[in-house]
Amino acid sequence: MSGYANVRRIRGLIEGLDRYTATPGRGTTRLSYSPEYSGARNFVAAEMTAAGLAVREDAVGNIFGRIEGSDPELAPILVGSHLDSVPNGGRFDGPAGVVAGIESAFLFREMALRPERPIEVVALIEEEGARFDGGLLGSRLLTGQLDPALLTELRDEAGISAAEAIAAYGLDPAEAGRAVLAPGSVHAFLELHIEQGPVLEAEGRDIGIVDRIVGLAQLKVTVRGRAGHAGTTPMNLRRDALVGAVAILAQLPDLARAVGADAVLTVGKMEVLPGGTNVIPDLVRFSVDLRAPSEAQLTRLIAMTCDVVEGGSGHGLDCQVEHQLYVPPTPLSPRIGAALTAEAEALGLSHRVMVSGAGHDAMIMAGLAPTGLVFVPSRGGISHAPEEWTDYPQLARGIDVIFSTLRRMAGVSVPEPAGRLQS
Ligand SMILES: [Zn+2]
Repeated sequence: MSGYANVRRIRGLIEGLDRYTATPGRGTTRLSYSPEYSGARNFVAAEMTAAGLAVREDAVGNIFGRIEGSDPELAPILVGSHLDSVPNGGRFDGPAGVVAGIESAFLFREMALRPERPIEVVALIEEEGARFDGGLLGSRLLTGQLDPALLTELRDEAGISAAEAIAAYGLDPAEAGRAVLAPGSVHAFLELHIEQGPVLEAEGRDIGIVDRIVGLAQLKVTVRGRAGHAGTTPMNLRRDALVGAVAILAQLPDLARAVGADAVLTVGKMEVLPGGTNVIPDLVRFSVDLRAPSEAQLTRLIAMTCDVVEGGSGHGLDCQVEHQLYVPPTPLSPRIGAALTAEAEALGLSHRVMVSGAGHDAMIMAGLAPTGLVFVPSRGGISHAPEEWTDYPQLARGIDVIFSTLRRMAGVSVPEPAGRLQS
């Protein structure tokens, strides 16, 4: 196996970042604007500087490191991912993509490559929404998809507003509007991310090239019946809301299967009232999370789910659906997908096109500029847990694809791969 990226340096960057966790020994906990985040910010800034990048930070804490182009007037290519984590998460979710950008910059420097078009490595803040609800805060502010005025309204569990957190972090939240990147000011966005699912590992492939991010809908189902004494109400006179809810639930997974291979449906939350061991339930509420790669599939899945729920009414039960969230699928750039595929092919890596079932910064950045997203395998498909893992040579292969594509898109010549430096 030969390639460009330096496995030892990648590992040093990932492990270096992972020192900034609030829960050492129990996974990565790096909430936005926290002391750990400050430490990671300083680490990233120092590594970007070492890689020859000119570093700046915007008003909300997104970090940029720029390789100047021989034509500095050209709109830059942005490459990166997020730096925050969920509580007790893993070391790769987010940082893998930031490290892909920094390692690419080191390679540009080592090979003395001067791109015609500027390249900016980005470390985005608050993607997970682990501190402030909603998530994708950094990318939504960058792309003008979030009103900066909302920073005073978003609050963490301690009641601290995002604006207060930004001020405590040393930035001026009143300047947040300046973080917005104008349409046309970015040429393209490239992101590398761990798959967070089992497909690449199961198929023994190196690289996933994401062609779209699934659409998502969330429904709330309410089933109403009648409460009664568990001992004195005969079975044939019951209006048991939980029995009705379970009958509905049992039909739902088959709906996703009927819609197509990449459609998924999950019931993750259920509330049973009044909630007594010896009381027949009169009210059940449960969530339904539906995802599908095409809007046609998603709307079909929603309609089928509504039919099944409504079919549960009768026999003294009343079943209702509320629509709580709808996000259409996000197609990524076919042109960048083709470029990523061509580079993976040239590097001799096994690859496949795939759909992302999780949301990523790429989904938001796609509203600003043509966007590409590369997945590398996740061991056992595990993520958002301390066990999250990607072997460093696997990560290096993904970075090779990002680096080669950057080099091609930014307009520099392409030398042959050298032997990879092993750790
Ligand atoms: Zn992530």
